[in-house]
Amino acid sequence: MELDDHAEDLASDLGVDKEEVTSDLQNLVEYSVPIDEAKQSLRRKYGDGSSGGGGTKPSAKDIAEITPEDGSVTVSGVVLTAGKRSIRYQGEDHVIVEGRLADETGAIDYTAWEDFGLSPGDTITAGNAGVREWDGDPELNLGESTSLSFEEESLEVHHDIGGDAQLAALRTGDRAVTIEVAVLECERKTIDGRDGETDILSGVFGDESGRLPFTNWEPAPEIEDGGTVRIENAYVQEFRGVPEVNVSEFSTVTGLDRAIDVGSDTSSMEVGEAVRTGGVYDVEVSGNVLAVREGSGLIQRCPECYRVIQKGQCRTHGDVDGIDDMRVKAILDDGTGTVTVVLDDELTERVYGGTLDDALEQAREAMDQEVVADTIRDRIVGREYRVRGHLSVDEYGANVDAQTFEESDDDPASRATAVLEEVNG
Ligand SMILES: [Zn+2]
Repeated sequence: MELDDHAEDLASDLGVDKEEVTSDLQNLVEYSVPIDEAKQSLRRKYGDGSSGGGGTKPSAKDIAEITPEDGSVTVSGVVLTAGKRSIRYQGEDHVIVEGRLADETGAIDYTAWEDFGLSPGDTITAGNAGVREWDGDPELNLGESTSLSFEEESLEVHHDIGGDAQLAALRTGDRAVTIEVAVLECERKTIDGRDGETDILSGVFGDESGRLPFTNWEPAPEIEDGGTVRIENAYVQEFRGVPEVNVSEFSTVTGLDRAIDVGSDTSSMEVGEAVRTGGVYDVEVSGNVLAVREGSGLIQRCPECYRVIQKGQCRTHGDVDGIDDMRVKAILDDGTGTVTVVLDDELTERVYGGTLDDALEQAREAMDQEVVADTIRDRIVGREYRVRGHLSVDEYGANVDAQTFEESDDDPASRATAVLEEVNG
């Protein structure tokens, strides 16, 4: 649905001026508020207490029973996490609180639009909590029309209170997480922020489970100094196809005394599982190379923008003197899913078994640069490889930007090939 249709819907539902609703909606969407959330908050603003549901009286429900079809519910539970985040709404900054709420039956994400003073460990009852759908799952909206009370008697839950997490387990959308990490890379950048030029830190964190990129919106000296830090109340957002840790003004950063053995527990994932996460930074997958895609082997790049060009033509810069380069785009499959593995020039030289100059010479002799890709095909198709790198997912599929690309030594087929080579050699 277009924004205009959403506005039309809302305006007729609420009986208010469409233009007003449209500009409000535009405002919210511009600041990355999801459309459903934006509509909910406008319903509150224009005085529809039903939170978008069917207008029925909310009933008390166990968390496991809540479905996206519930308009609103009354629910009791223990606050597992409560993370503050600032969003901009109609030109003004608003602080919202996001986290998870659990009872004996399950856990659910919530967003509190008012400051109810929620803290991890609190047992609460939320009357008339709105329910919305996010990625197929129900979520709670606690707002102006929600009556919230703190219970004296605390509820027993099976979930851990607090947001302690390892980097490898973090997913886009996670809120109020607590991590203990080593700062592996960190640089200060000046960006055009909401309120003009501002400095941020950006880099890479690591812990025993793996690595993740981060942005620190208000530079914390403990992070800039490097070493190891504990961060409370961070959130995770997608950036360039992979999850990124966001350290905000509401996060608490403290220096740590202990060393962190980065990457010692990095575990490999099945391809299907890795693709379903929607993007992983630093992951290991294994599988068979099914094919080497077009645009592999010897390629030419635009000297201006470094994008791959065809026949000396860059889409942006027109007729250019291309720079020779090598890369491989290989399709890797493990039975659970498929990814395109992209090898840079160094890894490509290794699987090709020669340098860029060797490749240029081979192409000149054959008077066809495709021979380089063919040579690579002969070497890697049908073999099993273990790849480590950054996996991102976009509309065209999943790509792994490979950091390492090694033939699996535990593959029966390649062991057999090795044995044969020995016998024949
Ligand atoms: Zn160009």
